[in-house]
Amino acid sequence: MSKTRDRIREGNLRYKQSLGQNFLYDEALLAELVRAAEVNREEDVLEIGPGVGSLTKPLCEAAGHVLSVELDERLVPLLSAFMAEKDNFTLVQGDVMTLDLARVTEPLKKPFAVVANIPYYITTPLILRLLTSGLPLSRLALMVQKEVAEKILSSPGQEGWGPLAIRCQYTCEPRLAVEVPAACFTPPPKVDSAFIVMPVRKEPPVQVRSEERFFRVAAAAFALRRKTMLNNLCATFRADRETALGWMRQAGLDDKVRGERLSMEELARLADVMDEEETL
Ligand code: SAM
Repeated sequence: MSKTRDRIREGNLRYKQSLGQNFLYDEALLAELVRAAEVNREEDVLEIGPGVGSLTKPLCEAAGHVLSVELDERLVPLLSAFMAEKDNFTLVQGDVMTLDLARVTEPLKKPFAVVANIPYYITTPLILRLLTSGLPLSRLALMVQKEVAEKILSSPGQEGWGPLAIRCQYTCEPRLAVEVPAACFTPPPKVDSAFIVMPVRKEPPVQVRSEERFFRVAAAAFALRRKTMLNNLCATFRADRETALGWMRQAGLDDKVRGERLSMEELARLADVMDEEETL
């Protein structure tokens, strides 16, 4: 019986599937994740969903301070007891999707890293929330479903290329760190997982006049899959065909290209052309 399973048994806990409770238990794997996340004493860490503390303890042993946000109230006494001897640990009970994260993370040294085996039912909204929150982040190191990792790491024209990949690659430099089979969790989830590390960029990879417009144009590229960008522009921005054709040509893009094939550079050129015409 692993130590994680011991704590779950002793705490008389029933896993809550609705909260994405799939706990890690292999200490060698947990140490590998902490190493891959490049956690160090100089840096503080925000952990989301500590569960019964399997990742939390090795994080505390490597990081400056660790602040963990856990929604499940039942885990609070268990975690508090398990982490009692660590003086660089703070537990906040609450929902990471609704808490005021700027206020909650006030005590952390800036910038801080987010390291977590996250609950999968909030994967995309959580990543988008973290990346658009304006929090001073150095890095995200997250366990996600393998297919989400593939999306985040995908290139233009690939199946997974879309708004999530563009947001992640615009803000960070994502890389696959560790592939993690379903059997490494208790209970095992239905899908395999991957631990991805995403250092936050100092500068975005493309320069745009307006980030807001860039992300609106990027979203438009995927509004109707397998349609041309021209059609997507007309539909999303209620533009007539001639106007949209003008934008495409000025941006040096083929009229027939599908939105899902466009790179960040091409989307940036298009957004800038539209921005110059003040069309959005
Ligand atoms: N970190 C632990 C581990 O690796 O074994 C547990 C990870 S488990 C995949 C996800 C954890 O997130 C669970 O403890 C769950 O209760 C918690 N959780 C679920 N929804 C949450 C939310 N909205 N805000 C904060 N924590 C949440």
